Amino acid sequence: MPGRLNGKVALITGAGSGIGLEASFLFAKEGCKVVCADINEQAGQATATKINADIGANSAAFVRVDVGKEADIAAAVAFAEKTFGKLHIVFNNAGIMHPADDNAETTEEKIWDLTMQINVKGVWWGCKHAIPALRRAGGGSIINTASFVAVRGAATPQLAYTTSKGAVLAMTRELAVIHARENIRFNALCPGPIRTPLLMDFLNTEEKKQRRLVHVPMGRFGEAIEQANAALFLASDESSFCTGTDFMVDGGLSAAYVTPE
Ligand code: NAD
Repeated sequence: MPGRLNGKVALITGAGSGIGLEASFLFAKEGCKVVCADINEQAGQATATKINADIGANSAAFVRVDVGKEADIAAAVAFAEKTFGKLHIVFNNAGIMHPADDNAETTEEKIWDLTMQINVKGVWWGCKHAIPALRRAGGGSIINTASFVAVRGAATPQLAYTTSKGAVLAMTRELAVIHARENIRFNALCPGPIRTPLLMDFLNTEEKKQRRLVHVPMGRFGEAIEQANAALFLASDESSFCTGTDFMVDGGLSAAYVTPE
């Protein structure tokens, strides 16, 4: 059976944990060469090592990247092309949700700036440096991780995070339109609440978890693999007519008014 990403090369940021970790494995299983990028050297390297052991030697390589630094992203794109010849897919997935991120009056400027640096500038630089590489490869797919919070307000505020994810949606849409005739597709993945360290560290009591789950029609948190499956579709040629979408993978959250009992 040919893999759904046979012959492709992908760069995935935040590959050491959660959605990026699952996507790295899934993409490699589907025949893709994967560059696993993460600021956490140990975690990112572990993903690449395990892929090479479980799926096949030379399926993955690690590169240390802080997406908040443009030079790191430029170097990661160059590394991907040098290591695997070309680059067809970039999954700009790394992001942070800072524990001190709160409402308009209480969020400190340094938390605001850090969130924008990683979640917005990181995605911009990921796109900026991917575009010429994808052009050299004859086209490709860029997936930017936004969030359902970009389209729904919450009375449990994380204003900088929410604002950053709204920016990712708007940026992705405009880039999709600009590059549509170059065979470079851009789509935003909008996960609902997912059972990964990012959210579970924050919702650290049963009460906090239930406060969220009442709003999810499916009545459960999503799994990282469910996001990875959506990213696989957007990365593959199966989504060849999809560009500029806000791809909601949220258990129905953004569609709901009153959820089932
Ligand atoms: P996670 O915390 O499990 O993993 C994030 C990974 O990104 C970690 O390995 C971390 O080391 C890495 N990372 C953090 N800062 C980085 C930086 N500056 N440079 C490079 N790597 C960095 O998180 P996750 O839940 O898998 O989240 C992935 C993406 O999905 C994020 O953009 C997040 O905002 C988004 N998202 C998550 C949820 C959720 O409920 N978990 C919901 C909506 C959107």
